[in-house]
Amino acid sequence: MSFDVAAALRRSTGRSKSDVANKLVSMFLHEVSRKACTAGGMSVTDPRYAKSVLAAFGTSCLYCGGELEPDRTSVEHLNGMNRVSVGLHVPGNVAVACKRCNNGKRQDDQLLPLAENGWESFLSHDGTRCATKCKACAYWSDIWPDQKTCVVSLTSARERIHQFQSPYRQFVEWSESTRGSLRQKIETLYRDCQKFATDEIGKLTLDLELEFSEVKTLETKD
Ligand SMILES: [Zn+2]
Ligand SMILES: [Zn+2]
Repeated sequence: MSFDVAAALRRSTGRSKSDVANKLVSMFLHEVSRKACTAGGMSVTDPRYAKSVLAAFGTSCLYCGGELEPDRTSVEHLNGMNRVSVGLHVPGNVAVACKRCNNGKRQDDQLLPLAENGWESFLSHDGTRCATKCKACAYWSDIWPDQKTCVVSLTSARERIHQFQSPYRQFVEWSESTRGSLRQKIETLYRDCQKFATDEIGKLTLDLELEFSEVKTLETKD
């Protein structure tokens, strides 16, 4: 596939304001996470936590089970720390995944979820639940072309994660029970931030005097 210059230019032009709002959402979720960790007496940086991640997944990706390579690995939030998934940086929601799965899961975050949790939805696209093979289904069938192997592998990945989460039940349950109210707060924060950015930038650029003559580009022959 060749690089789509026009699409990349369009994206970078439209993104600047929502980046500010998304950053604020992430800061908010981190602050909520700090409070939850203090209350729960355990944090992601606790050496005991690293030990339990290692015990559950070894040095394999928690989703596909592939061996982790140092430069193709990222810290993974089972429920992403964004407006859609409202995940937290707390024990039970953080592990390590390969970059490929990390990117693959991001696509599913936007679709109609197959499960309440982002990660569980991602691991449910085994090719049997979607009417037509969606992007996430295609992602897994690319890794496990055999349908049976695909179903078994995804089921065991989901079980492994549930097992891993069991000592951190209180964090998992609290995150699930507050997701709705956090989502509401986030929507307010996001909207206010967008409005602030639009208003302020509008005010600050109002008195700029701009006199340009139209840019003429060279016509290229096909
Ligand atoms: Zn993976
Ligand atoms: Zn699917």
